[in-house]
Amino acid sequence: MKLSEQSRTSPLVWATPLIGIILFILAMGAFFYTLHTEDQDQAQLRTIHDVELARQTIRTRLLAIQDRLMQISHNLEQDTPPTQNFQRYADALLNDAPEVSSVLLIDSERVAHQVTLPKNRVVEDFHKTDRSVEDAESYWAFNAARDSKTPVFSRPSLSSDNTVYIEIHAPWFIHNVFEGTVVATIPLNALLRDAVPPSFTQLYQVKIVDGGGNTIASNTSRSIDNAKLSHEVPLDPPGYGLKLRAVLYRTSTELFSNMLAWTVIGLSLVIVWSFVLLFRHAKLRTNAERRLLAETKFRRAMENSVVTGMRAIDMQGRITYVNPAFCKMTGFRESELVGMLPPFPYWPERSYQNQQFNLDLILAGQAPSQGIEVQVKRRDGSLFDARMYVSPLIDSDGNQSGWMTSMTDITEPRRIRDELAAAHRRFVRILEELDAAVCVHTPDMTEGQYIFANRLHRDWFAQASPPKVFKNSKNRPSQFEPFEWLNPVSLRWFEVRRRAISWVDGATVTMQVATDISSRKEAENLSSQQQEKLQFTSRLITLGELASSLAHEINQPLAAIANYNMGCINRLRSNKVTPEELLPVLEKTNVQAQRAGDVIRRIREFVKQQEPKRSDCRIGKIIEDAVGFSRLDARHQAATIEIEPFDPSLQVMADPVLIEQVLMNLIKNGIEAMHALDSQDKQIRISVLASGKIATVMVQDRGQGIPEDIKSRLFESFFTTKSDGMGMGLNICRTIIEYHQGQLWVESAPEGGSVFKFTLPLAELSVRSMQTEPIMEKPNV
Ligand code: ADP
Repeated sequence: MKLSEQSRTSPLVWATPLIGIILFILAMGAFFYTLHTEDQDQAQLRTIHDVELARQTIRTRLLAIQDRLMQISHNLEQDTPPTQNFQRYADALLNDAPEVSSVLLIDSERVAHQVTLPKNRVVEDFHKTDRSVEDAESYWAFNAARDSKTPVFSRPSLSSDNTVYIEIHAPWFIHNVFEGTVVATIPLNALLRDAVPPSFTQLYQVKIVDGGGNTIASNTSRSIDNAKLSHEVPLDPPGYGLKLRAVLYRTSTELFSNMLAWTVIGLSLVIVWSFVLLFRHAKLRTNAERRLLAETKFRRAMENSVVTGMRAIDMQGRITYVNPAFCKMTGFRESELVGMLPPFPYWPERSYQNQQFNLDLILAGQAPSQGIEVQVKRRDGSLFDARMYVSPLIDSDGNQSGWMTSMTDITEPRRIRDELAAAHRRFVRILEELDAAVCVHTPDMTEGQYIFANRLHRDWFAQASPPKVFKNSKNRPSQFEPFEWLNPVSLRWFEVRRRAISWVDGATVTMQVATDISSRKEAENLSSQQQEKLQFTSRLITLGELASSLAHEINQPLAAIANYNMGCINRLRSNKVTPEELLPVLEKTNVQAQRAGDVIRRIREFVKQQEPKRSDCRIGKIIEDAVGFSRLDARHQAATIEIEPFDPSLQVMADPVLIEQVLMNLIKNGIEAMHALDSQDKQIRISVLASGKIATVMVQDRGQGIPEDIKSRLFESFFTTKSDGMGMGLNICRTIIEYHQGQLWVESAPEGGSVFKFTLPLAELSVRSMQTEPIMEKPNV
C-alpha cells in the first residue's frame, strides 16, 4: 500500500527539485546576463575614455613634431649659411621623436637637399626618402605649405615597402622668400607604436582607419571582431577623415566572469546530470519496489490459496510465520502461534516426546527428505495425520535464518491409499485364484518376461509357454485369434486368447488368458468315440433291420444254388448228363454264389468300418447300390423305386457305404409310410439336383406325410411312431450327412407324402464341369 502511494506521489516529488534546478539556472543566467551587460557598458565607457586619451597623446606628439619642424625652419632662417646646422637639428628631432623615420630638407624646386635618417633604426622603418620621385600627396602638402606659409600635414601615402606614412611640411623662408620645406616623415605604424602608451596597447587593438573604414595602420596584425567594445574618434591632425579606432581585447574581468559563468553552468550541468541519475535510479528503484510488491502480493495470494500448511521457525524453534492453510488445519490463529516456542499447542499430549524428537531432528538439519509423518491435534482436540517436509530458510545475506515446514493433511489420501491397497490385494487375489493363467507382456518381450503373471501362469508355463504368434487354420501367423495349444511338457491342452490392451502407463500391451481345456478335450474325445460307437451300434441296428430284409435276398441265390446243385446231382445220378450240359448250370450257380457273397461282404465292411472314408465317387453308383439293397424290401411291400435320370458322371465327396445306409434308411421309411396304400401307388422316387458346389439328393414317397407338430422332432434320437421302431434311423442319417458337411431335412411333397432331402459336397471335378443350374433354395431347417 505504502509503496503504491509513493509511486503515485512521485511526479510531485520529482517536480519540486526539477523546478528548483530550472529556477536556479534561470536566475544564474539572468545574473550573468546583467553582469555581462554591465561589464560591457563599463568597458565601453572605459574604451571611449582611453581612446580619447590616446588621441590626445597622438595629437600632442604630432603637434610637438610640427612645432619642432617650425623651430628648425626658423633656425634655418637665422643661420648663415642656412643649412649649416640642419643635420644637428634633424638628429635632435629624430632622437626626441622615435616615430619620425626621416627628416628632409627640400628646396623650393622640391629637391631634397639633405636627408637625415635616424641612427640605429631598424631596416623595416626605413623608407624611401628621395623626394625627387613624384609623390602626389607630398607634392600637395609641399604646395599647401608654400602657399599657406604654415606647416601642413600630408594625406597618408603608401611607401614602396607597404608602409603607410604621413609627412609634415614646414615651410622655411629667407627674408620672406620661400626656400622650401622641412619635412618629417612619420610612418603611422611607428606613430601608433611610439605615441600610444604600452598600457593602452595591451588592452586594445589600436588602428588608424581612413574615411572608407579601411585600416591603414595597426599596432597588431591580429584581427579582433568585437564591434561592441570598440570606439573611434577623428584623428586631427593629420585630419583628412582619418580616425583612431581602439578595439578592446578580452578583459580579465570578462574572462573571470566567463570562467565563473562556465563554472556555474558546469556545476548546473553536474546538478542536472546527478538529478537525471537520481531520477533514473529512483525510477529503477520504484520499478523494483513495484515488482517486489507484485511478487509479495503474488506470494501472499499463493500462500493464501495453497491448501498446504506452511510454518516457519527460527533456529531456536520459535514460530515466525504460519500461513492461513496452517491456521485452518490446526484451528489456531496466526497471532496465537507466531512467537511461540515448543511445545506447540497442536502437539497431541501423548506424542510430546516424539514431536520434540522430530523438532530436534529438524533443527539439527537431519529431517528426512521423504518427509515426517506426524499426528496433529486441532484446537477442538480432534487429531489428524499429516506429513511434513522441511527446507532451510535462507535470508538475503545467504545466512540460514530458520526452517520452513510444509504440512499436508494425509488422512484422506491415506484412507484412499489403504482402500486402493486393499482393492489391489483383492484384485490380485482374484487374479491369483482365477482358474485361468493370466499374464500381461509387451508385444516385443523376450520369452519369460512378463509385466504381470498370475499364480496359475507361473505354475503352468514355468517351463514352456504358448508361442507368441500362432499359425491359424489357414497357416497364417495370427496374434489375436484364439487357439488351442498342447503344452509339450505337461501334455495338457490350453485354449489361449490374446488381446491388445492399454496398460496403466498408456503403452499397448498384450494380455493373455490361457484356460486348461484338457478335460473338455477329453470329453470331446470321449464323445467322438461314443459317437463312433453309436454309429457302430446304429450300423448294427440297421444291419439287424437289414438282415431280415436281406435274408430273402441272400436266400434267393442260396435257393437257386441249391436248386441248381440238386439238378446237377440228379442228372449225374441218372448218368444222363454230359459235361456240356452241366457247365452253364454250374456257371449260374457260381453267379448266384458270388451275389450272395457280395451282399455279405458289403454288410461286413459296413459293420467293420470305424472311420468314414470320404472320396470322390459317383452318386449314381451309390444310389443304384442302395436301391439294389432296398429292392428286396420294396418287392416285399409291393412298392416300386424309381430313379429320375440325372448326369451319370456326377461325383460327390462322400463315404459311399454310409451314404448308401442313409439312402436305404430313407427308402425303408418311405416304404413303411406307404404301407396303407394300394400297391400301384406305393412308389419311391429318387432324384438328384446339382447346383453350385453341392448336390441335393431327394427321396420322395406318397405316404400320409408328417404332421407339423412332429416334424421338428423327427431327427431326435429314439423318436419313433412305430411300435417296433428304434427312432435312431433319421438321427444317424443326419449325423452322417452333417459329417459330410451337408444337411438333411424333410419337406411336404406337393402331391402328398414327404420328400427327404440331403446335400453333399460335389467333387472338385464335378464342380468344374458343372453347367449353370437353377440354384436350390437353402433349406430352412
Ligand atoms: P424308426 O423308423 O425306427 O421309427 P426313424 O428315425 O427312421 O426311426 O424315424 C422316426 C420316425 O419318423 C418314424 O417313426 C416315423 O414316424 C417318421 N418317419 C420317418 N420317415 C417317414 C416318412 N417317409 N413318412 C412319414 N413319417 C416318417
